[in-house]
Amino acid sequence: MITTTINASKTLLKHLECPECGALYDPSSLISVCTNPACQSTLFARYDIAGNTLNKEMLAGREANMWRYREMLPVIDNLNIVSMGEGFTPVIPVENLKQATGDNRVFIKNESGNPTGSFKARGISMAVSKAKELGIKTVAIPTAGNAGGAMSAYAARAGMGAVVYMPKLTPRLFKDECRVYGAEVVEVDGNISDCAKLVHEQAAQKNWFPISTLREPYRVEGKKTMGYEIAEQFNWQLPDVIFFPTGGGTGLIGICKAFDEMEQLGWIGSKRPRMVAVQSASCCGLVKAFNNGSANAEFIDGGYTIANGLRVPKSYADKQLLKAIRNSNGTALAINDAEMLAGLKELARNEGLFVSPEGAALWQAFKKLKSERWIKDGETVVLINTGSGYKYLENINADL
Ligand SMILES: *Cc1c(COP(=O)(O)O)cnc(C)c1O
Ligand SMILES: [Zn+2]
Repeated sequence: MITTTINASKTLLKHLECPECGALYDPSSLISVCTNPACQSTLFARYDIAGNTLNKEMLAGREANMWRYREMLPVIDNLNIVSMGEGFTPVIPVENLKQATGDNRVFIKNESGNPTGSFKARGISMAVSKAKELGIKTVAIPTAGNAGGAMSAYAARAGMGAVVYMPKLTPRLFKDECRVYGAEVVEVDGNISDCAKLVHEQAAQKNWFPISTLREPYRVEGKKTMGYEIAEQFNWQLPDVIFFPTGGGTGLIGICKAFDEMEQLGWIGSKRPRMVAVQSASCCGLVKAFNNGSANAEFIDGGYTIANGLRVPKSYADKQLLKAIRNSNGTALAINDAEMLAGLKELARNEGLFVSPEGAALWQAFKKLKSERWIKDGETVVLINTGSGYKYLENINADL
């Protein structure tokens, strides 16, 4: 249910912009990436912030989901919003593992409670809402797991067809979840990049709208709400460091975008958290590129990992991601499956939180960076647990 306060609010969406060549696009037409063949970059939604008097006090009393930031979200007509209450997830302190946290304040922003059990609900709610607004009948997606489930659910709710391309090696639960929601699941003998190739070929022929990570402008608009929430939940004083498990990278790019928008709105100052991108050791092109000082990431696919959300051989927006990490004075590091499993058990047994392997990777990464003193005493740290561990029982049960 959308409340009357939100119903009375309108989007400030102005246009879509290419960050590479500066081209502007009309957001009322269907568009995926910059049409300039030299960039083909992800497009970003820009809002008419100057001259508006949005203030953060107006948020009081709004509903506790991501649509509370209505003016800064791209859906034009409220009737097109496809929502199941995604977002405004809790920030939970790590309480008992004091030997590990020392004098840092460490919080887990827990995305487990979102519809379909992951933060993917945010981006997909936004993309499906915009697809509805633009008259799309069928949406399609290449996915390593959670995005497929989320798209299937939101498409069902919007009355759209859903086609999901998923690597054969993805655990069965993630495929069955899509089938429960009535989606067509195509299992591909390959990785998510192979899936993406097939989706885009088929979409052109069959008139589907593909919502691949950062190859359309709206999923990032849903995911950026994590940044707005962190600011609001920390009373507009951003934490010192944010850890994010990075696959395609929409989450990290979205959070940084939110901070820039909020500074323009006058809601926060110029201080930014250092962003830490955590990858799986089997699939860590970004970490390598970061360490080598490269502007782009190589394609690396080391095969199966228990953190299937991190099996992304190369992000479409690798350049933007590396820039965002560097601009924040952040860093990137890789964690292997055994370490993730150990971290997952440690958080479950000591904190009562059953995080996804992707979330567990952040805990391990935090401990490493603290031992290297990259994390300084007294700093406030947020780990974003992107998904519920319950979906991963099949991935980890042999090791319990
Ligand atoms: C998709 C996914 C990720 C990676 O997110 P990006 O925004 O694509 O980098 C991390 N964790 C989980 C649980 C996921 O489903
Ligand atoms: Zn361009």
